Amino acid sequence: MLKLNSKLPNLGITIFTRMSQLANQTSAINLSQGFPDFDGPFALREAAAQFTLQGHNQYAPMIGIAALRDQVAKKIKFFYNKNLDENNELTITPGATQAIFCAIQATVHTGEEVIVFDPCYDCYEPAIHLAGGHCVHIPLTLPNFTIDWQHLTDAINPKTRLIILNNPHNPSGTILSASDLAQLADLIKDKAIFLIADEVYEHLVYDQTTHHSLLKNAELFAKSFVISSFGKSFHVTGWKVGYVAAPPVLTNEFRKIHQYVSFSTTTPLQFALADFMAKYPNHLIELADFYQQKRDLFCNLLTASKFSFSAAQGTYFQLLDYSKIKPHANDLQMVDWLAKEHGIAAIPISVFYETAPSSLRFIRLCFAKQDSTLRQAAERLCAI
Ligand code: PMP
Ligand code: GLN
Repeated sequence: MLKLNSKLPNLGITIFTRMSQLANQTSAINLSQGFPDFDGPFALREAAAQFTLQGHNQYAPMIGIAALRDQVAKKIKFFYNKNLDENNELTITPGATQAIFCAIQATVHTGEEVIVFDPCYDCYEPAIHLAGGHCVHIPLTLPNFTIDWQHLTDAINPKTRLIILNNPHNPSGTILSASDLAQLADLIKDKAIFLIADEVYEHLVYDQTTHHSLLKNAELFAKSFVISSFGKSFHVTGWKVGYVAAPPVLTNEFRKIHQYVSFSTTTPLQFALADFMAKYPNHLIELADFYQQKRDLFCNLLTASKFSFSAAQGTYFQLLDYSKIKPHANDLQMVDWLAKEHGIAAIPISVFYETAPSSLRFIRLCFAKQDSTLRQAAERLCAI
């Protein structure tokens, strides 16, 4: 039997697949993998059906259909006051994951270094390895998951080619401030370092705070791939449609990879999203309030529990500190116990670290759920 020499020998299935499987096996309420337990807007789904029936089923243009790029450019102007050239600076992709993969392949050469912040979303490192790069992990400082600027400064060297930011941050729910971006700009000024800004939760920012997109900072945008996902913003994670905004030179290199990884993105879904965005511009404006109501409901109910937490500033994830409940259990043991004994599936966050601190006692719960699901889950969590 011919043996394949694995390029990713240490990887198995993702924690999201594993925990969703455990949720199914144990019939636990699944607050692990991040997806809503409600559907996207009816008008959006109806449009997808209509565009399919009307015959929009052949390849879309490689860069995405004009109507959708137009809508994305409009919303970027509205939210970030940035004029984008939608022909040369915007590309529609089959999900944010694909965009991240292509942006990494476009940027990183063999032996170069990429800086990521732990806990770090799981799709970055495999893509860095496949590009021949080396992933340098910098832990965010606990308890507030902030960037250690001195550590970052010390980690930068001539081999550093890329820094990947995830803002708002999965799994911690923290957001970067304008001064974070100013410090970053200062730090990489005059250096050949590019940025990927994974901003898939850009519209899920709470308590009237502002999302500081890299699109708002011209100096940073000049070196950046800013990536987002329609899956998060329109409650359709299974559609896998995303986009990348990047200056023309970077977009050009990005498209060279994108056109041979997938070439284009599902046609009727692009038409449906463009149609819906044109007809319902308020959807994105109202999204933060929609999810903040869910976060507040869940957090208010959990004040009666033994978990400690501070409410997420962004994303649809809430971290809970369980040290008063099982101080000696690591988070993998905790999520196993929680699913089997209490019927709640959660995500352990140690898996997002190169080296997790041994004192880490956080689990991640997704609150993109119907209010009834959140009430039922909170009841179980409060009974522990
Ligand atoms: N980045 C982060 C931080 C995410 O949480 C997700 C979520 N699923 C993605 C990227 C991938 O988005 P998509 O499903 O559009 O590929
Ligand atoms: N982004 C989702 C999460 O963080 C998971 C997506 C996936 O299953 N790959 O839970």
